[in-house]
Amino acid sequence: MTAPREPRIVIIGAGVSGIASAITLRRNGLNDFVILEKGSDVGGVWHWNRYPGLTCDVPSQLYQFGFAPKPDWSHIFAPGPEIQGYLADVVDRFELRSHLRLNAEVVAAEFTGSGWRVETGDGAVYEADFVIAATGVLHHPATPDIPGLGEFTGDVLHTARWDDAVPTAGRRIAVIGTGSTGVQVVSALQPKADRITHFVRSPQWVIWAPMWMPQPALVGAVLDRLPQVNQTLYQVGMAGAKLFTDVVTRPSWRRRAVQEFARLSLRAQVRDPDMREQLTPDYQPLCKRQVLSGSYYRALRARNAELVTMGIDAVTATGIRTVDGRHHEIDMIVFATGFQAHNYMRPMNLVGREGISIDDAWAKGPRAYWMTAIPGFPNLFTVLGPNSPTGSIPLHHAAEVTAKYITAWIQRWRAGEFDTVEVTESATERFEAEVGEALGPTVWSTGCNSWYFTEGGNIDLLPFNRRTMESALATPDDRDFRLR
Ligand code: NAP
Repeated sequence: MTAPREPRIVIIGAGVSGIASAITLRRNGLNDFVILEKGSDVGGVWHWNRYPGLTCDVPSQLYQFGFAPKPDWSHIFAPGPEIQGYLADVVDRFELRSHLRLNAEVVAAEFTGSGWRVETGDGAVYEADFVIAATGVLHHPATPDIPGLGEFTGDVLHTARWDDAVPTAGRRIAVIGTGSTGVQVVSALQPKADRITHFVRSPQWVIWAPMWMPQPALVGAVLDRLPQVNQTLYQVGMAGAKLFTDVVTRPSWRRRAVQEFARLSLRAQVRDPDMREQLTPDYQPLCKRQVLSGSYYRALRARNAELVTMGIDAVTATGIRTVDGRHHEIDMIVFATGFQAHNYMRPMNLVGREGISIDDAWAKGPRAYWMTAIPGFPNLFTVLGPNSPTGSIPLHHAAEVTAKYITAWIQRWRAGEFDTVEVTESATERFEAEVGEALGPTVWSTGCNSWYFTEGGNIDLLPFNRRTMESALATPDDRDFRLR
């Protein structure tokens, strides 16, 4: 009997999905892998984002890997640095460091006919049988091209590229953008700023939540001592998350109740009718990625804060001019303007079978069969790729389930069942049609504009519940693939 061949695997990215992939491979006896990470440390978004006030608005006990529970989170909603520390700790605990190449940005990956040739910016080349692209969704910062920006003499920062050396206390700060990030950064900067001006193009619904609430030390100690209880808590959390999936994917009284709470959060915290009107969105709560905060409205009501809903005309040398002609004197502009969320692996030069580039394959927008397999790109899988459930199912879990699915394919390669595996066009089209139909009743389709939408107008989310995702990814279905 011949020994099984050992697949060589390149994982691109050392964020949540790259780490989940590496550990899943390792737990299944696949050890010949390298993780190429363009940053100087692991953590993905939690490495790149370090703006003041960064907090995860998903409860920490759910925002972790099922295989690596952390009992002792400091808060119910953990601060960003703690999450980054957790991810770094998981990398150490599972001994991934020797597989890791930091500061290694993949600039090109080309299918060779039987595998992949992957090249990093420093000229290193990796030959692989499989590529796992775990490159993330919210990775490329979007900075609007506002007239005059180049003339501004103060500091300009994007929240996803924060620089701690730039002082914020005692300064006149403009924050542009009202997503989860803008709301957090305004709340954090307001107390020490000389003046904070929040430029809000479209207000967001902001559901009140006690983001500052600590997790009692006793809870951590009990969960640490009793892993069974910890596991049960995780399962309870997952069951609770099911309710959230239900709320966003199906109209019901539960959705209406959450939406009413969003409206109440505004009414109860903003008494001034003018300000309340300015802060009232013209779309349904939950339509955009829901913002949670227990401090934003209070920060906006402070004496050193101003809400500006007038459009921005231009940036000047010393401030921002709005379309009503008013000039706002500013020392520092903070762009909380989000990400180019649909770039995925790009701008990497990714070339699949018969020379097809990912830009051509995705000319009408990113697409992948069940978030992971792309027609024309054999032996390449994405984790948290197109249509991932970023707005509905705990992400670590989605990454783990996808990583297991990919590992199942690689195990079959190892056993000699095929040399290349590629999803069919028809299976991908069928998946897209199912997604399109299921998106109909979701709250995301109720008439708002957000980063969930691709340029082509598709909603880049998974409109199914966790069980459906799990069963689709439980076992590879050969009928949807071409094996050679
Ligand atoms: P975002 O939700 O895409 O929000 C971008 C904001 O910038 C919007 O308010 C947008 O206004 C505004 N904007 C963009 N261009 C503008 C322009 N030219 N002039 C004025 N305003 C402009 O980005 P984000 O807040 O960084 O959040 C992105 C995602 O990251 C979140 O939805 C969430 O999934 C994740 N996140 C999570 C957490 C967490 O706690 N877990 C924290 C932060 C971020 P319009 O709405 O008018 O376009």
